[in-house]
Order: sequence, then structure tokens, then C-alpha cells
Amino acid sequence: MTTRLHCSCTHRSLLKNVALEDGLPAAACPDCGAVLLNMDDWRRWRSRAPELSAAHVSTVTDTAADHGRARACPACTRLMERLPVDAAEAFRVDRCGPCQLVWLDPCEWQALVQRGLALQLDTLLSDGGQRRLQAERLQATRMQALRQRHGDTCVDEVLRIRRWLAEQPHRDELLALLQAPEAAASSQRN
Ligand SMILES: [Zn+2]
Ligand SMILES: [Zn+2]
Repeated sequence: MTTRLHCSCTHRSLLKNVALEDGLPAAACPDCGAVLLNMDDWRRWRSRAPELSAAHVSTVTDTAADHGRARACPACTRLMERLPVDAAEAFRVDRCGPCQLVWLDPCEWQALVQRGLALQLDTLLSDGGQRRLQAERLQATRMQALRQRHGDTCVDEVLRIRRWLAEQPHRDELLALLQAPEAAASSQRN
């Protein structure tokens, strides 16, 4: 990133060049700590198959608090998209698609590293990745509704039977038996 860009925080500070990792340049705001990452820089860094160790960030817990509002892109001033990077939507990153710039809140990079997501950033932010996250969220919501309606014990039992059925070689026959009328099911015993 060669152009001189300013942060979108109240200080409007000039961003300073930093290294997020060995060979991964970024620009950080000296006042609020937010980090601007160029996805082209990320891709160059990623193509060298970097090894990330989560050891040095083991103290980071949930410090990646979501700031909750969209930022303007520092390069083109368009409002950036706020994209979730995990199914639980624990946090989102702001991205300007046309400029290929991503804003990370302070500690967000470390949180991505810790969750094993830093090397998948491109995939997670892609249309396919976002669709997959949305499907996972929908599935989690449905499961939660089922648990509320039927209770954990019941749902866990159904899931256990489901796993067991999946391992059976003749599961279609077993499923048919399960759904057969009472009389038909008991007559098969004799
Ligand atoms: Zn700032
Ligand atoms: Zn932009």
C-alpha cells in the first residue's frame, strides 16, 4: 500500500506501515489500532505457504469485539461491506470489494490466527464462502429451535440414532421398518 490513507476513526490519523506477519505488510492507525489490509498483499503472502503459530496469541480470547458499524473505505469512501468470517458471527470484517481492502479491528488479525481462519480469509470472504457461512448459520438456528421445542435429551437421542443408522449397511430397510405401520412392523417378528 503506497498511497497515504487516513483512518476512519475520529482522529483521522495517517495510517502507518506495519507487518502483520513476516512478509505481510499492512497499514495501522496509531490512535485506534485498526489495521487496513490489502487482499493482494495477503494473497502474495498466502502464496508463499506461510506457517502461522497461534502460540504467541494464546492470550487473546474474545478481545475481537465487534464495533458494530460499517466503515467508509479509506481509499474510495464507499461504505464497506460487513462480512462475517465465522458461522457464529462472533465477528465481522469490513471489506471494500473494488479496492480489495479489508479493515480489521485491533486484535482481529490475532483472533483470525487463533481460530485458524487467517489463511482462509479469501475463501471466507468470497461469495461461496459467505453462502456456506449463511447455510451453517441457518442450520444452527433450526437446530436451536428444535432443541427448544423437543428438549436436548430428545434431540441428542435422535442425532445418536441418525449416526448409528448412517453406519448400517441396510439402512433403507431399517428406515422403512421404522416408518412401517404398527401391524406390519410387529408381523415381521414372526
Ligand atoms: Zn483510527
Ligand atoms: Zn474502496
